[in-house]
Amino acid sequence: MNDLKKNMEKVKVVDEAMKQTGIDKELNKQQQSITKMGTLMGANPVNLMTGFLNQNQTAKAEAENPMPKIEELDPLKKKIIEMLCEGTGTNICDSGGAYGRNWQRNRSRDFENEPAANVEIWSDSVSVTYNIYHYLKNFLEINRDSEALHEQFMEFSNEPDNKDESWLTNMEDFIKKITEVFEYNGLVNTYNYESILGQVLQYGIFGYDGELYIILQIHGGCDVRGGYTDPYIFQLLEHDYFMIAQTNVDCHCDKCEGAWYSDDSGYNWYGSNSEDDLEWEPNQDEKVVYHKDCGGKISFSVMEDF
Ligand SMILES: [Zn+2]
Repeated sequence: MNDLKKNMEKVKVVDEAMKQTGIDKELNKQQQSITKMGTLMGANPVNLMTGFLNQNQTAKAEAENPMPKIEELDPLKKKIIEMLCEGTGTNICDSGGAYGRNWQRNRSRDFENEPAANVEIWSDSVSVTYNIYHYLKNFLEINRDSEALHEQFMEFSNEPDNKDESWLTNMEDFIKKITEVFEYNGLVNTYNYESILGQVLQYGIFGYDGELYIILQIHGGCDVRGGYTDPYIFQLLEHDYFMIAQTNVDCHCDKCEGAWYSDDSGYNWYGSNSEDDLEWEPNQDEKVVYHKDCGGKISFSVMEDF
């Protein structure tokens, strides 16, 4: 059999398989025809179908949670909200379909009025996360210089040599081209280490004309390998505190006024004003953490000022 004949056989198999799995109802007529034509030409039908299914699922997710109109006037807050709500796609292999992806859920949130520290209390543990909106708002800035740099980055990314490269490659190449190399430690993905950040960030920090900048992507999906926003360049106000705030948590007791801090995302606690080790009793039903020694309530905070 020659290739064409073989592929015609394959098309029959694909057609049958689409009907049996119900995929024929998920893909529109055009998508089904393209899958069959592609198979006839020797393409892998599974790749074609997966691509179409992802496309349709993203369109469905967009329709279910349309992008809200962002009323915020402050350019920094507005940009962060836009990024947090940016549709970063869906993938039929991720579990986002079950409980929604960050970007979908974010579209109905009121970030400004949410607390910076998000405390979750279980019967035997407490978890504190830093609301990513507040974290970014506290440490970044948008000004004329950062906007000009961002424009420069977009021009760079659209150059013929770069426009087919991934964001990650362009981010790295742009920084290498432009920086006077201070504070630049390569691209960082916060998924690779323990932090209290509420969403994963991918970024590079670099110096330019005496100021610090950060080129940043926010992860908006479920599968951490994909699903990042387009990158954006902000001015970074302070490097060391930006890093420390990723793992630092403070807590204090409202009765005995004991205070403790953790520099490893809440695993170990040290006394800030107290010689006593911190012993607490989380109460899941009341959503309160009690201080064992005195029975007072413990409240938690993240680093917001520097
Ligand atoms: Zn106490």
